[in-house]
Amino acid sequence: MNNVDTDPDGLPGGDGEHAEGSPQVDVLTARDVPLGGPRAMSVRRTLPQRARTLIGAWCFIDHYGPDDVADTGGMDVAPHPHTGLQTVSWLFSGEIEHRDSMGNHALVRPGELNLMTGGYGISHSEVSTPRTTLLHGVQLWVALPGEHRHTGRDFRHHVPSPVTVGGAEVRVFLGSLAGDTSPVGTFTPLLGAELLLEPRSTTTLPVDPAFEHGLLVDRGNVRVCGTPLRPTELGYLHAGNDTLTLTNETDTPARAVLLGGTPFEEQIVMWWNFIGRSHEDIAEARTAWQDASDRFGNVDAYDGDRLPAPALPNATLAPRTNPTRH
Ligand code: MN
Repeated sequence: MNNVDTDPDGLPGGDGEHAEGSPQVDVLTARDVPLGGPRAMSVRRTLPQRARTLIGAWCFIDHYGPDDVADTGGMDVAPHPHTGLQTVSWLFSGEIEHRDSMGNHALVRPGELNLMTGGYGISHSEVSTPRTTLLHGVQLWVALPGEHRHTGRDFRHHVPSPVTVGGAEVRVFLGSLAGDTSPVGTFTPLLGAELLLEPRSTTTLPVDPAFEHGLLVDRGNVRVCGTPLRPTELGYLHAGNDTLTLTNETDTPARAVLLGGTPFEEQIVMWWNFIGRSHEDIAEARTAWQDASDRFGNVDAYDGDRLPAPALPNATLAPRTNPTRH
């Protein structure tokens, strides 16, 4: 995914209804961001926003669809660079063709993890396939910790087997949940899972109390630890919970994505498709891309030009961290 939004400060999230004796859940709302391209498919972004920069090392959550590609034109993101981060593509429906500068050519399909490590530098294109009619999923980014942010390019694929706990069907794509562990390693402790919740069901999932969590609701009205979330909302829970209780309050199956990780303590500078630690890191990556440097390599077989980087702002890009906890 390409980030066309170079001003990541969105609207502040509101506080949700908070049940007495339950963990505090901050309800973060999405804002619509055009992806670019001919007919400008748009996505719903819940991270980053003013109220929150990171959940664990998760630093970017885009949620899209279900979109009829006959209306939106689907996804067509020309070759663009990444540095200092990993991208996770996770679909609920549709199919995306991924090509990157390692020479990987992969089809991203529902229920299958595709994790690309940008590290020092990679470039890729993402195009929904002609047989896609409904495009629906999430695109997530993971910030790499300082000691690994210049690691080599990598690409991993994993198809989790669904596991059932109570009224939930769980697909663990990163980390461990519900007795399943993804074989795909991470650079910081992380969790990523899709949850399908039976109608009118309540499920309690044991989680790592060292993790903070975010629950993104795709479909249905879901109560997390007492706080109601509507589709497209992201519920944020601080570290310190050893269980999460989820209730599907609708008469049809609900779907959500659960993300978690140990709080990411480093400040990051995130601009366009780059993550660094300073304005200079970003400016250097931008120049390398504009100069077609080997840092990002080439994507073969994309029909069209690569994406130019936007202009840097006149002001120095400031590092971001999470707001102080009260
Ligand atoms: Mn991308």
